[in-house]
Amino acid sequence: MINEELHTYLEELIPERQPLFAEMESYAKIHHVPIMELAGIESMLQLLRIHHSKTILEVGTAIGYSALRMAEALPTAQIVTIERDEERILAAEEFFKRTSLSGNIHLIKGDALEVSELAGHYAPFDAVFIDAAKGQYKKFFEIYSKYLSAGGMIITDNVLFKGLVAEKEIESKRTRNLVKKINEFNHWLMKHPDFDSVILPVGDGVAISKRRGESN
Ligand code: SAH
Ligand code: MG
Repeated sequence: MINEELHTYLEELIPERQPLFAEMESYAKIHHVPIMELAGIESMLQLLRIHHSKTILEVGTAIGYSALRMAEALPTAQIVTIERDEERILAAEEFFKRTSLSGNIHLIKGDALEVSELAGHYAPFDAVFIDAAKGQYKKFFEIYSKYLSAGGMIITDNVLFKGLVAEKEIESKRTRNLVKKINEFNHWLMKHPDFDSVILPVGDGVAISKRRGESN
């Protein structure tokens, strides 16, 4: 998104994370788990702090990295997070156990397209963080925006997909289809009559949406 030197410069300025988070970052690298990019998560955490989000719903836990970072940054917040992949659920649970933050995190196991009613028991949410299958973003947004509290926001990760959204020629058919889906989502989101949205070119592209006419 930005040039390599500036990217490195910014990442080096970000303070060291505590050992467990550093371990999770290496785990993610080794096991190819797409946790949020550093500049992206730092931006999101800052937004959540300013917003004083007390209840957060995350779609896409993976190994629990972003959930734990949110729980640490917002010690009084309750975090509900959804994951469908067995192996990642186990990894997340192991990491949660090693912290004093696990009491603030509730993991829902299942497909986010199917477990919305369960998640709804914890609604309303001050923030909804969408970070799961990119082809389903519109569905996640439609389902979970219903659970947003007044003045709540929706944060969506990976909306610029490594810059591929602006590429004209993409070889792989699978990638091309995914890019098409994300592009459709971005256009749909930016034209949504009920939400004001902005796409920040930070990390892998982070969209921030807020329902129109709600002030808090
Ligand atoms: N938020 C995490 C990274 C999530 S990676 C972090 O930054 O630390 C995306 C995760 O979403 C993957 O683990 C994948 O298994 C999960 N996922 C994708 N589609 C899903 C769905 N429909 N329901 C639940 N989880 C889903
Ligand atoms: Mg992501």
